[in-house]
Amino acid sequence: MRVTLVSALLSISPLASGLDISDAKDSGEWKVARDAPEVSSRDTTLWNRPAKRQSGWSPPSNLATPLKEVWDHCLNTYSNGLFGFKNYGWDQIKATEGKINVCVRWESSTAVTEAQRTQVATAVNKQYQKWFSWLYGYDNFPYSNIQVNVVGWAVKDASLLQGSTSSITVYTDTDSGGIPQCAEACGRFFHQDGDYSGCPGGSASHYDNSLWLTDGFSGGAGGDWGQRIGREYFMGALSTDSIHILLHEMGHTFGLDDFYDWTPTGISNFIMLAGSSSVITDFDGWMLRNWWYELSRNRGWQS
Ligand SMILES: [Zn+2]
Repeated sequence: MRVTLVSALLSISPLASGLDISDAKDSGEWKVARDAPEVSSRDTTLWNRPAKRQSGWSPPSNLATPLKEVWDHCLNTYSNGLFGFKNYGWDQIKATEGKINVCVRWESSTAVTEAQRTQVATAVNKQYQKWFSWLYGYDNFPYSNIQVNVVGWAVKDASLLQGSTSSITVYTDTDSGGIPQCAEACGRFFHQDGDYSGCPGGSASHYDNSLWLTDGFSGGAGGDWGQRIGREYFMGALSTDSIHILLHEMGHTFGLDDFYDWTPTGISNFIMLAGSSSVITDFDGWMLRNWWYELSRNRGWQS
């Protein structure tokens, strides 16, 4: 599905948000990926994850051309010239100085234990770190350990949350469609100026991303508002090393594109090419770095 980027809120629904990249219509591709054997598609050559600080743009020579194709494609197809959109995951972590607070939207009537909530928080952090490991130490990226915390759960009924809820904020708010969501007063999507004065817990309990877990949802969707994936899929994958649909959608939160109508020269297996890889590949990692390299210079974040 095409990426749509608009800078203004067109709707109160997060799925019609500024950066909305939906894969929900592409469940067939995901089914292929889910059913594929868990083999690594990783190249046998070890590329240079940074063992030491490095600056500038220095991708492996065999990735340079396809990476430029991808970046140019984004420049040509994202609205507002790509740089005009101001709520990428990048903008969010700059605003928080290296933190991502997450609200879980539990679109289910299934009870969830305290232990499961701990597992959810662990898994979300682990998956994000798989992306961020490409950034730590790279090209003046200012953070070495981005803190990813689940700060809130939105449920239909508070009784679905078993055990202690002392470490989270429990919300029974709903969106315009009646689906649980954390309070809009606390959400980055709704308050991109950073004013959380209407949030009962103030800025400390605000959330940057929603992790929207929906019963019976196939495929996924991702954008500046967060990620949406199937509740059953995610809860069944909590102990999986790479929760590949979530990884793909997190890529969208940080601006990465889909590849439904073209592929970069010579590159056929990577997590952002839905269904082609169950892990973040070196090409994915360098696409993420490409964003930092370009966006940090455009935004004045290098100094
Ligand atoms: Zn996608």
